Amino acid sequence: MNCKWKSKNNKFCNRNMKSGYTCIFHKNNKTKRENILFKHYIKKEKITYFLGFCFEEDFNIKEILNYKYNYLIFEECIFYKKADFSNFIFKGKIKFLNCKFLDEVWFFDSNIDANFIMEGNYFEEKIINNKIFRNTNINCQSFKLTGNTNLPRLDGIAFSKETKFILRDCHYTKNYNYIGKVNYTIAEIQAEKIHDDKNIGYYTYYERKYNTINRNDFGNYGEYLISKVLNYIARELMGYGEHLSKFFIYIISIISIFAFLYMLIGVTTASGEIIKFDFKNTNSIFGFLKMYIEFWYFSVITFSTVGFGDMTINGIIGKILVCLEVFIGITIQSTWAALIIKRMFR
Ligand SMILES: [Zn+2]
Repeated sequence: MNCKWKSKNNKFCNRNMKSGYTCIFHKNNKTKRENILFKHYIKKEKITYFLGFCFEEDFNIKEILNYKYNYLIFEECIFYKKADFSNFIFKGKIKFLNCKFLDEVWFFDSNIDANFIMEGNYFEEKIINNKIFRNTNINCQSFKLTGNTNLPRLDGIAFSKETKFILRDCHYTKNYNYIGKVNYTIAEIQAEKIHDDKNIGYYTYYERKYNTINRNDFGNYGEYLISKVLNYIARELMGYGEHLSKFFIYIISIISIFAFLYMLIGVTTASGEIIKFDFKNTNSIFGFLKMYIEFWYFSVITFSTVGFGDMTINGIIGKILVCLEVFIGITIQSTWAALIIKRMFR
């Protein structure tokens, strides 16, 4: 008879067994004797692929893994009690896929020398503040943590200079945003260390995203609101700041909005002609576009602080607008230059 246990991804256990519907590895509420057998069978079969195992007692890797292995996969396992991977040297690849950790998880003082993947796992909220990788030396090429829920703090981890650390799609509830910030900062530091340019922008963005501004930290609502708005602008402008294309779109939008405002106010050309958008005499779309292009040109000239002087703005509001655009222009131009230079020197 074969075990009928099936995973959420339609993977079957299919292990040979004497009797029953599913094998002892997936069983809940095991008796004392069954728990002893559980460990005994793991060692006897030298299991390296743990599919759908229910670890109801403390799991200690040193106690169980006394046999050789090339890889370890824990898939859809549930660790009801402590999962202890401490003081262990991982020489083979290790993967945790869609597991549930309902109690403490320890990787303390371990060496991870082979590639490590943790994907789609769930951690109990009560351990979110525990540094599960305390004094863990990560010496492998790739250390990947993706799509995990309540991934605990990662400080205390020691990366080698070669390790590519990928941290993606962490899920945190609002109360634990600061853990997200801590973890993405760690990822950002490692990405900078190994010049992983592709990911730095992502981490910078998420570090800011999780940079929580709590109402309680502010005396009055006004200060809180200003802080919140500034944080939002910083995030939008600089979050994916490494993305030149997004920045370019910002510049074009600013120029276009100012061009529209100038069109309402009007300019005087060198020959003394006043050009202004007239609501009453609505021209054809073509006429409108032609006029808009004129003003767009004026806006670009102003934004870039070139100022040819072939058109001059009318009225005091117009002058204020021009000053504002010149100021924005100077600020953005320097940021733009900095971004390009940063890119060139990578
Ligand atoms: Zn089974």
